[in-house]
Amino acid sequence: MSALSDLNREISACRQCELYRQRTKVVPGEGAEDAAIVFIGEAPGWHEDQQGRPFVGPAGQFLDQLLDSVHLKRSQVYICNVLKCRPPGNRDPQPAEIATCQQWLDRQLQILNPRLVVTLGRYSMARFFPGETISRIHGRPRREGGRAYLAMYHPAAALHQQSLRQTIQADMLKIPALLAEAAPGPGARAEAAPQQLSLL
Ligand code: URA
Repeated sequence: MSALSDLNREISACRQCELYRQRTKVVPGEGAEDAAIVFIGEAPGWHEDQQGRPFVGPAGQFLDQLLDSVHLKRSQVYICNVLKCRPPGNRDPQPAEIATCQQWLDRQLQILNPRLVVTLGRYSMARFFPGETISRIHGRPRREGGRAYLAMYHPAAALHQQSLRQTIQADMLKIPALLAEAAPGPGARAEAAPQQLSLL
């Protein structure tokens, strides 16, 4: 068993906030353990809660299209959320829930150690771009400590607001170049390099 699957099993048993009472399934996240990119959404919705998998409803279908536009498959990236359990009725995450759940995302990122973190929506943006507004910083990457961070609108936002669709699509197209830029030098993470380069 890998460190990530051990961690995700721990997450699945979490009862540290009240959200565990109404969840059907915990949604820790899924994807490649050696992913160069991690996408972080907000919280599971109804479909995700039923299946225990992230982004499997309508927003997920749009995310799949976005991934396809840069020739990425779900199996090549990692997808997770700020909250691992569905807030009742899909209400907004509460600050105390975000604070309690943060340990899980932190530990996932520690294990995954991606070259690029893509935040989807304002809740995951707030974690990596504190004090910012999504309208100001979406599509403008920040590089820090050998990692790039890119904030994007939430795919669900495009489902409700057609004008955002092109914005999200344009921001997504920045990913291949960002990934290439953040690629490790020769010899670094050599075992992961062939697969990561093939993503481009
Ligand atoms: N919206 C999210 O933020 N995450 C999901 O997993 C599904 C919808």
